[in-house]
Amino acid sequence: MDSHPQCRCFITPLIPGFTPPASASGETWLAKQDEQTQRNILGGHYDLYKSGTPLGDMVKIKQDKTWGPTVGVRPLKEMAGAGTSAAKGVVPVVPAVPVLPVIPVPIPATVSDVADQLHQVVNFNDGAPDLSKLSLRVAEEVAEKYKKVIAKYPGMAGKFESLTVEKLSKNIYADCLPISGDNIRVNELFFSDVNKFESKYAKDLLILYHPEGTDYKSVVTHEIGHRVDGVLTFVLQRGIIKNNGTIEHASTEIRKLVLKKLKLTKNDIGSNLSGYAAAKGDREFFAEAFAEYIDSDNPRPIAIEFGKILDEFMKDLK
Ligand SMILES: [Zn+2]
Repeated sequence: MDSHPQCRCFITPLIPGFTPPASASGETWLAKQDEQTQRNILGGHYDLYKSGTPLGDMVKIKQDKTWGPTVGVRPLKEMAGAGTSAAKGVVPVVPAVPVLPVIPVPIPATVSDVADQLHQVVNFNDGAPDLSKLSLRVAEEVAEKYKKVIAKYPGMAGKFESLTVEKLSKNIYADCLPISGDNIRVNELFFSDVNKFESKYAKDLLILYHPEGTDYKSVVTHEIGHRVDGVLTFVLQRGIIKNNGTIEHASTEIRKLVLKKLKLTKNDIGSNLSGYAAAKGDREFFAEAFAEYIDSDNPRPIAIEFGKILDEFMKDLK
């Protein structure tokens, strides 16, 4: 888009599954302001505006040697006699670029706004999470992971107990405790200093300890994966009650199905998914495959097959 020094226009990304922030054109916005605000913004052009000259006619685009096409205000003397866009001597300028003010958009301004918005989407059983120990950026990153999963599986809304930020052992990034519906805890030690966390995760990624196509933020996706496993097991009752009374999670069946379909064995999990999944049991396999399936732009066959089976299971979740 054409721009100019001190331009206050911005580009808003459109993310599949998310409604873009409400916004209005500069012209619509200005029309709703009171006279004093309009005068402050338009200065000497106010009378022309009031007599019906469109804002687009007050815009001039000139070629600047440094900046290229540059948007500016057409001086009043060039607009003499103007009253409407059809007035004599006024050449309508195309395109009509709104040069006007910063448009207010509802961007969450504080960590607590992020937590409230997240709660609206997830509907935690314990109410809005307390994310106050996180920076705004990290709180948003954590929230995005939840929103991504709920956009894909809307039935997961209302299925999360709580999300907490706590000082946990140095050996874990986060966890998902199977107490009354799985409480996800992220470790303050890592999530409050993501630069260190990010490089630590990236180093482990190089030795294939984490799933390909993920980064530190995928730790959240991994934990959500545990909760999805919990929902499959206890809500959709896809778990199996063993002879000794223990319940086998749905992840056991799903891991078997994935390996069988791809003709792989447990020994192949390290090179095809992650070292962590290879070292641990079915539940970690599930969470690791979930993280790659949800977060990787280019999931590998094991994550793709996992995703197909998971989507089939999740169809029953209302
Ligand atoms: Zn895990």
